[in-house]
Amino acid sequence: MSSATKRTVLITGSTSGIGMAIARMYAHKGYNLIFNGLEPNGAEIAAGIAAEFGIDHLFFPANMADPAQISEMAAKSLERFGTVDILINNAGIQYVSPLQDFPEVKWDAIIDINLNAAFHMTKALWPAMKAQRFGRIINIASAHGLIASPFKSAYVSSKFGIIGFTKTMALEGGEFGITANAVCPGYVFTPIVENQIPDQMKAHNMTREEVIEKVFLKEHAVKEFISVEAIAESVLFLTESAAAPVTTGIALSVDAGWTAH
Ligand code: NAD
Repeated sequence: MSSATKRTVLITGSTSGIGMAIARMYAHKGYNLIFNGLEPNGAEIAAGIAAEFGIDHLFFPANMADPAQISEMAAKSLERFGTVDILINNAGIQYVSPLQDFPEVKWDAIIDINLNAAFHMTKALWPAMKAQRFGRIINIASAHGLIASPFKSAYVSSKFGIIGFTKTMALEGGEFGITANAVCPGYVFTPIVENQIPDQMKAHNMTREEVIEKVFLKEHAVKEFISVEAIAESVLFLTESAAAPVTTGIALSVDAGWTAH
């Protein structure tokens, strides 16, 4: 891909964690950035990154559980930049509970935000990518898109689902220069991990330290958390490297060896 001609990237959930690291990486490369996220200071975060790297940007606090807000964000992005060359479906939430106590409302929210949103977002941008015969779609899945863990029924289902969606888009996009790939991180210490510690403590009857060692890092062959930059670099490989045009439909594990078991 020539970044001189292909220059606009939309990243859902990009005002925190992994999405923000991906945003900073593309900003550093001079891309136009479309930010999204529900952090209360999201607009300032987006403006701060844009100013730091001197790039054009838009910010939408669109709720990814709402197809109408997704559609509006896509339309306004296309209106402003003409096309979106790279789409990163990254926004995600987690909820940890044994099945018998798992609230229906949490199941629905996880499927809506982690899976259905990627369908709506991709569908909205697909015609513009097809028309220009170029597109790069990255879905941030998880090691939990390849293997399960107890107490995460909705999350695991959503992440297995998004890998299926990724492979289908790869098959449909091939003839139009559109690639679709999933990235499957192991544990990255962002708010989504921090926030599940209390529920993991309850579900496993463990202390905070035990959860970190015996639930999170136990899974990693390399006994450390994965950095947000490591995930951003893997996205770069799938969108900008010489391998990118012919790498499609894969689920790339960046998981410290978790799924090697
Ligand atoms: P995070 O909590 O730091 O970021 C999540 C982002 O999604 C935030 O910006 C949040 O505002 C946004 N978001 C959540 N619900 C939203 C909604 N309804 N509408 C719009 N935005 C919404 O977490 P993260 O670790 O950066 O997670 C990013 C992605 O990486 C998620 O899909 C997550 O499942 C995946 N992932 C994370 C890990 C990890 O260990 N952190 C591992 C594997 C996969």
